[in-house]
Amino acid sequence: MTTETLKTRFAPSPTGYLHLGNVRTALFNALLARRWGGQFLLRIEDTDRERSRPEYVAALLEDLHWLGLDWQEGPEVGGARGPYAQSERAAIYADYYQRLETTGQAYPCFCTPAELALSRKAQLSAGRPPRYAGTCARLSEAERCARLERGLQPTLRFRVPAGRTVEFTDRVRGLQRFASDDIGDFVIRRADGTPQFFFANAVDDALMGITHVLRGEDHLANTPRQLLLLEALELPAPEYGHLALIIGADGGPLSKREGDLSLRELRAAGYLPEALLNYLARLGHVYDRDEWLEPAELAAGFALEHLGRASARYDAAQLLHWQSEAVRRMDPDRLWLWMGTTVPQYVAPDSRDDFIATVRPNIRFPADAAFWAERLFNADLTLSAESRAVIVAAGSAFFTHALAAYAQHGAAYPRLVEDLKRRTGLKGKHLFMPLRAALTGETHGPELARVLDLMAPERVRRRLQACIQVS
Ligand code: GLU
Repeated sequence: MTTETLKTRFAPSPTGYLHLGNVRTALFNALLARRWGGQFLLRIEDTDRERSRPEYVAALLEDLHWLGLDWQEGPEVGGARGPYAQSERAAIYADYYQRLETTGQAYPCFCTPAELALSRKAQLSAGRPPRYAGTCARLSEAERCARLERGLQPTLRFRVPAGRTVEFTDRVRGLQRFASDDIGDFVIRRADGTPQFFFANAVDDALMGITHVLRGEDHLANTPRQLLLLEALELPAPEYGHLALIIGADGGPLSKREGDLSLRELRAAGYLPEALLNYLARLGHVYDRDEWLEPAELAAGFALEHLGRASARYDAAQLLHWQSEAVRRMDPDRLWLWMGTTVPQYVAPDSRDDFIATVRPNIRFPADAAFWAERLFNADLTLSAESRAVIVAAGSAFFTHALAAYAQHGAAYPRLVEDLKRRTGLKGKHLFMPLRAALTGETHGPELARVLDLMAPERVRRRLQACIQVS
């Protein structure tokens, strides 16, 4: 692979928010470019006037920045081969349409949607795969003019050459072969003058100097059409790699419950960009090392050869694993902001770092941090059902001893525990559980020594005292 010239792109259609599937496509293209010191370009494929919306463009730019998937060419940053929104490239496309028309490789088609549907139905019922019957391919110049004079708005169709085999080596799936006779002449410009996907996508890749295209395997069948178009236009074709789709744990398509979530939803839930990157970079791609990788390491270890052909299964537990790892690594200032507005209502600024150190291993989301802030700092303690049971079982004598031990040793945890052991004759979970339940109202949670250290002595005493009454 020549390195300086490698150029990949992400070409989303702004018809909705980014989801895990298209974010993964963006990520793989960005990683491939970084791996080889190449460039990553962003192009907005907004040819569908009805469904494309400016707010989706704004959202996807913001989402990509949030993930750290910055592009070197495209909207905001510009570049020599813009504009980077297809809606602004009509004049460029016009030139290429004309080339195809002049050489007879494209022709206007006047068939109505109803006629096309009828022909499709007839072919299907005759057991043949439906493709354009070629009606308008055979119109004479006079017939064409007559139709245009009647004010009909034609589409423009590409004339697919007959009897050809289109071959290409997919960078993920290996050698692919398609018979051109299986491909009907296809529309490259809609009746309203807007370009069809096949055309704008292929022309732009060529004009923007894209060398590698990684995209979903749902586009595989489009590739022979695009290769034929590029050949007709004498434009260079990129290398294509079609990524296996992401499927749900049950083998079906991703459902809302199982990861078919927009990046915005994941972000609102508190997922961290680094967690998503570590997860997605391994969804259909393998690394030699299974441990946490920083963005630069994700790029350094990325290889086309490591992309899998089998569908990639979404695994919520894996994503949670990387989320925990991300929380474990985040610097305190960022973590504090990420925790949101509830935590500072409970945790004073001078306790911030101790609070973070105490709860960090036990939180994955801001809601977890808010939970522990409330548990550890609220004046009133709510006991979970389990902790109430533990406290009752320990009995009031246990807490009288605990109060005495605390009066003597304070938060010096090992000494406190030793003393309590001696006073009660208890050890292990029989000793730690009631203590934990009394102080936090929970039977699991942050390290007890840290909790004790974090809590004001008055509060520790009050909570231990309260258990004498409960039990
Ligand atoms: N706009 C197309 C999509 O979002 C791009 C396909 C491609 O990457 O070539 O599916």
